[in-house]
Amino acid sequence: MPSAVPRHEHDIPSADSGVTKFTNCLLVSGTELVKEDLWISSVTGKILNGQEILYGHRTAPGRIVDLGGRILSPGLIDVQLNGAYGFDFSVIPNEGTTAYGKGVLRLNSKLITTGVTSYLPTLTSQRAEVYQKALPFLGPSGKTRDASYGSESLGAHCEGPFLSPTKNGIHNASVLRTAPNGISDLASCYGPANLESPSPIKLITLAPELPGALSSIQSLAAAGIITSIGHSEASYEEAKLGVKAGATMITHLFNAMKPLHHRNPGIFGLLGTASSSIAKPFFGIIADGIHLHPTSIKIAWNAHPDGLVLVTDAMRLAGMPDGTYDWTNGSRIVKAGALLTLEENGKIAGSSIELVECVTNFLNWTGSSVPEALKAVTETPAKMLGVQDVKGTLREGADADLVVLDLQEGAVGGERKLVVDQVWKFGTKIFESAQGAK
Ligand SMILES: [Zn+2]
Repeated sequence: MPSAVPRHEHDIPSADSGVTKFTNCLLVSGTELVKEDLWISSVTGKILNGQEILYGHRTAPGRIVDLGGRILSPGLIDVQLNGAYGFDFSVIPNEGTTAYGKGVLRLNSKLITTGVTSYLPTLTSQRAEVYQKALPFLGPSGKTRDASYGSESLGAHCEGPFLSPTKNGIHNASVLRTAPNGISDLASCYGPANLESPSPIKLITLAPELPGALSSIQSLAAAGIITSIGHSEASYEEAKLGVKAGATMITHLFNAMKPLHHRNPGIFGLLGTASSSIAKPFFGIIADGIHLHPTSIKIAWNAHPDGLVLVTDAMRLAGMPDGTYDWTNGSRIVKAGALLTLEENGKIAGSSIELVECVTNFLNWTGSSVPEALKAVTETPAKMLGVQDVKGTLREGADADLVVLDLQEGAVGGERKLVVDQVWKFGTKIFESAQGAK
């Protein structure tokens, strides 16, 4: 029978301490992998100070996890995910918003098994009505710190609709608009309440050359909402004005923008700007082998290694079998592996890749080290989002969102591959692959 006598904190049996120690593992620390233990708490959901526990006569670990030499990384962060497993953030189902909310929760519980512990649910360009219905379900979701909810939204990414109609990609050109009156036009599109603090929106992609865009960027920066430059015809000079107004990110660099020209370097030119002139922006890269040539990725990384953020830009067919599927505006999409094309014209319609596969591609294409590649899905996106103290790091006090990765070295050509073996959220293990359990 358990004792009814209240216990002093120090007397709590180790099995109840909620403290887990990972041992025999390689921790991602800056650009190094270091052989060190990591201590976390399932009670606070945070990373603990191991030294303090060892020498401060505090609680013993309730559980010791031997990782057999595998890599322990902060959980991965995807700042551009349009949907997955058949769910699309940009589509309100006929059943209404309750069904939409349930769809978001279902996606979160599946997404976490891919190692993505937090992300920005991303809306492509839509009519105002869609934003106003969807955004209340897409805001930051980690307040309850409940690991069973799966992957955590850090806030919505509104990719549009203030985009260039000639760089629309697969966005429906008929819903694109401008904001000649600045932030009030954005408010009437997204819904005034959705721009008020605390806003469900974390990041907005817009084209800085459009009327009213620069004043909108200034107002968003003042409201704590990040602006990313994208789907844009901006010249280098126009893009630079966008950064001066407060934009700190570029959405899927190279795609849906002018290519680099030696007399007009365009948006890409921002990566070459002297840092005394402007702060070089962060930039998203879709490393799916479809959107970009590997060499373009390497050039961008060489130009600004601390700015590179790997994104999937995946949409609702991610995690679904190959085939032909109905798309939102009456056309159809063909999925063949990670490649998605519009049936009518063969245009690239997005990606269905997993973020960890982007990391694997990046490793092999750039010859980077494993921590350098993981930085592009952990530390760098966390910095871009201003959450670097709680996400994307293994430092004491950060959230214990963790991924155990197995680095597999191919026999042929020395190709490397990262495989997600375990995922932990707020200090609790919520996924283990069949291989990881071995
Ligand atoms: Zn896009």
